[in-house]
Amino acid sequence: EKLLKIENLETMIEDKKILKGLNLEIGKGEVHVIMGPNGAGKSTLANTLMGHPKYTIVKGDIIFEGEIINDLRVDERAKKGIFLSFQYPEEIPGVTVENFLRTAKGAVSGKQMSIMAFKKLLKEKIKMLDMKEEYLSRYLNEGFSGGEKKKNEILQMAVLEPKLAILDETDSGLDVDAIRIVAEGVKKIIENTDTSVLVITHHNKMLDYLRPDFVHVLIDGRIVKTGDMNLAKEIESSGYEALKNQLGE
Ligand code: ADP
Ligand code: MG
Ligand code: MG
Repeated sequence: EKLLKIENLETMIEDKKILKGLNLEIGKGEVHVIMGPNGAGKSTLANTLMGHPKYTIVKGDIIFEGEIINDLRVDERAKKGIFLSFQYPEEIPGVTVENFLRTAKGAVSGKQMSIMAFKKLLKEKIKMLDMKEEYLSRYLNEGFSGGEKKKNEILQMAVLEPKLAILDETDSGLDVDAIRIVAEGVKKIIENTDTSVLVITHHNKMLDYLRPDFVHVLIDGRIVKTGDMNLAKEIESSGYEALKNQLGE
């Protein structure tokens, strides 16, 4: 059984239909990349999967571990093991990284870990990601550089141990260093766990690092082509318009 199955999904934002019959299956431990032109519906897909209330499902199903989750709230989906990057507040004054992560872990797992058990888990993850422990006692995002914020997001992902991690590398101009931090961190998580990953990106660096099992192209609310790294290379050299022509869209 697949971890995630999206069947003929149609979603609207306000009165505009964005996803127009999208199909996608993700197996346990697989790495999938979604590419597509601006406005295609990539972020809409990510947010719909997480259950953001702004997006209304008008048709189709999201099936996670065999259960239709269309009507579940964000927190309920998080408890089931779905993680979407970048949904945390920018800064929380007076809250350390460690305390923030412990609270988040408690919320997602439904039980508060003992301080000792949590410290052990954190140590393990910090080691896996090659991070410095001193960083844990800093206040969340306070004075963090762009790179440190990214590291923090990757650490969150590692600590929460999701079954499905969705990373929407929005078009907000990540610099090369930030891309490398995210890519290296995600790569370590992929190698050391059986988390399934859905990465939305147009950065070839990211693809080179992650070596995805599948590459999908999303155009106008549907996945129009699925392939491997070669598909990404083809798009890099010929562009989306060429693909559209080829598919007769
Ligand atoms: P992508 O991530 O592929 O660039 P999005 O999913 O962000 O695309 O957007 C898909 C379409 O939905 C775009 O046409 C965009 O203009 C529209 N859209 C996104 N957010 C909103 C919103 N809050 N209200 C109305 N339309 C929106
Ligand atoms: Mg987007
Ligand atoms: Mg793995």
